[in-house]
Amino acid sequence: LKSLLNDPSLLETRAYIGGQWVEGDNGTYDVTNPARGDVIAQVADLSRAQVAGAIAQAEAAQKEWASWTGKERAAVLRKWFNLMMENQNDLGIILTAEMGKPLAEAVGEVAYGASFIEFFAEEAKRIYGETIPGHQRDKRITVIKQPIGVAASITPWNFPNAMITRKAGPALAAGCAFVARPAAETPLSAIVLGVLADRAGIPAGVLNIVTSSRASEIGKEFCENDAVRKLTFTGSTEVGRILLRQAADSVMKCSMELGGNAPFIVFDDADLDAAVEGAIMCKFRNNGQTCVCANRIYVQSGVYDEFAAKLKARVETMSVGDGLADGTIFGPLINGEAVEKVQEHIADAKAKGGNVILGGASSDLGGTFFQPTIVTGATKDMLVSVDETFGPFAPLFKFEDEDEVIAMANDTIFGLASYFYAKDLSRVYKVAEALEYGIVGVNTGIISTEVAPFGGVKQSGLGREGSHHGIEDYLEMKYICMSV
Ligand code: ADP
Repeated sequence: LKSLLNDPSLLETRAYIGGQWVEGDNGTYDVTNPARGDVIAQVADLSRAQVAGAIAQAEAAQKEWASWTGKERAAVLRKWFNLMMENQNDLGIILTAEMGKPLAEAVGEVAYGASFIEFFAEEAKRIYGETIPGHQRDKRITVIKQPIGVAASITPWNFPNAMITRKAGPALAAGCAFVARPAAETPLSAIVLGVLADRAGIPAGVLNIVTSSRASEIGKEFCENDAVRKLTFTGSTEVGRILLRQAADSVMKCSMELGGNAPFIVFDDADLDAAVEGAIMCKFRNNGQTCVCANRIYVQSGVYDEFAAKLKARVETMSVGDGLADGTIFGPLINGEAVEKVQEHIADAKAKGGNVILGGASSDLGGTFFQPTIVTGATKDMLVSVDETFGPFAPLFKFEDEDEVIAMANDTIFGLASYFYAKDLSRVYKVAEALEYGIVGVNTGIISTEVAPFGGVKQSGLGREGSHHGIEDYLEMKYICMSV
């Protein structure tokens, strides 16, 4: 892996605590390349006590960092952003090697991840308070915003760069110190952020990267350590529930970006070619491994057959392969469990009357490579209608009218992203308002951007990331009442 990098020193395997590079008390754990299954690095495996130490370092550094002006914090965050972009290709190669997504997507993720640092560097200067007319003649009321303190993050492997930057960006901009525990599968993309933060001049202890194979122990430390004032998590609803329960004892502020079960609706009046392109971006990006990927594709009966044929014709031409190879659209799935889940969903759909019109099985390449799969005749009793596949399986459901599809789309405990394609303006408004989701894509399959508030309703989460709202999760409001 080192030999592929323009700057091999970016490939660091130790944890980053208090501005120092540290080995793990529990030795190391292996990081594998999902495309080939080979071990590409051995990374520091930190103990819970070491993570407590990192929290202490963050606590010690936070007050000084918070005393910097917004402009001063913005300047070093901007440097961090610049370094990420200058090393975009190397960061992309590291990301593909440990996570599997095609290099073009990985390089795109690095730019997307960096954009949160850029955006929130700018926001650091705009943490405005408020004055409120007093409630009595001698009273003056001022509201100020202050950083919440130490924030800790737990993030998944599917966006090893961006899931950290969209949390660390607003946290650092607000004047918080940050302790990040990356997914065990993808620590290298997190550690390299530490390397670049160090080079950018982010003060020691303000950003800490704690790598550990022991997720639940680290989660407990984050929740039980009184110095941590904010927990921010992206991952499954199941683990989100565990963390919320654990955080209850210390009444810690929590942000949760949890699972989705995104509907993607194609109405009769849609531009069908655009809907096919949107469905491909939305369903198959990152091989279906994103929480905003379309999970249920609803197509109105008048265009159902045509849509299915067009989708099949387009996906057929897209190749499966190593993410570092030219032309790859579908990389490997992250691991064997991910493959089993896709297989389970497809087998269940077939058993319940679904018709596989494309793919349906593992790829000839072996390993965790899987054929992109399309099934027609999907129904609501299938597993896929209640559970996110997180893989390259597109089930096509048929519907007759608007009210029916809105009811079907909302019939889930989740509420992260939703999508629909239609042209009729009153339909567009009505459907956008009726969908019980935090995000609605209208005539587009791509909704992620640092300038908009990303987050879910129902059991998809709490809080928003990105946009000027995203920094609020890292700020406390203080009301000062003065008698004059
Ligand atoms: P995914 O399916 O995306 O891996 P998970 O919710 O299982 O979603 O994992 C998201 C992150 O949470 C990963 O970094 C994982 O290691 C971590 N994690 C899993 N279980 C726990 C736990 N009990 N406490 C804290 N972190 C956990």
